[in-house]
Amino acid sequence: MQPSLSLPPADLRCRRPVEHYGRRVAVLLLVEDDPRIRTALTRALTDRGHAVSSEPAGLRGLQRVLDDPPDLVVLDLGLPDVDGIQLLRMLRPVSRVPVIVATARDDDAATVAALDAGADDYVVKPFSAEQLDARIRAVLRRTAGDETVTRLEVGDLVVDLRARTVELAGEQLELRPREFDLLAYLAARPGEVVSKRTLLAEVWQQPMGGADKTVDVHLSWLRRKLGETASEPRLLHSVRGVGVKLVEPPGSAPR
Ligand code: CA
Repeated sequence: MQPSLSLPPADLRCRRPVEHYGRRVAVLLLVEDDPRIRTALTRALTDRGHAVSSEPAGLRGLQRVLDDPPDLVVLDLGLPDVDGIQLLRMLRPVSRVPVIVATARDDDAATVAALDAGADDYVVKPFSAEQLDARIRAVLRRTAGDETVTRLEVGDLVVDLRARTVELAGEQLELRPREFDLLAYLAARPGEVVSKRTLLAEVWQQPMGGADKTVDVHLSWLRRKLGETASEPRLLHSVRGVGVKLVEPPGSAPR
């Protein structure tokens, strides 16, 4: 049975994620049903400077690619709802997003089927995060002709995703790992309001939700380190009942 999908208008299906390349951060979508692998890969790829989100099932992954195209998809083949190769065959007529298949299947037939179905590369589990990252960068170089830049600037805030350092007006800030992840996530999306639920899912890897308080506490720590308060925000703004956003402060000189 062919599962049904709601497709976006044709002109949106292959759009390049210009807004992401504008910030030159590789936005990756991981489609993987094993929660341990999903969490480990998300962490490892985030540490290497990518903005990573994930889906635990094939059709949700496919819908996500169509709704909000990432720069690259890392695709497991053994998924609960639809086989990865079948998913590729459904994806290719409507999207040219680069896909790296990451699977435990190491037989020739599966490799050939995945490449024939439109995969850009193929990596067999277990693999190191270094190898996957190198393959991601190679595929992005081939498909986008654009180096992945790992430095985000919002006003006088500079986030170096690879070195995991943050400078504010030239002064280095000492952030805890999760504070850094939270700030980097927001800095990759300046001006975009992000809900606490999304932050829990993407930064804390708690897709089922968790305590909003966790986010609140980290936001208040971040604010203190950024030298601002919730009532007098400069970079980090709460939007009541919706979420939080990082914005370029008015009057901050472009660098
Ligand atoms: Ca699997």
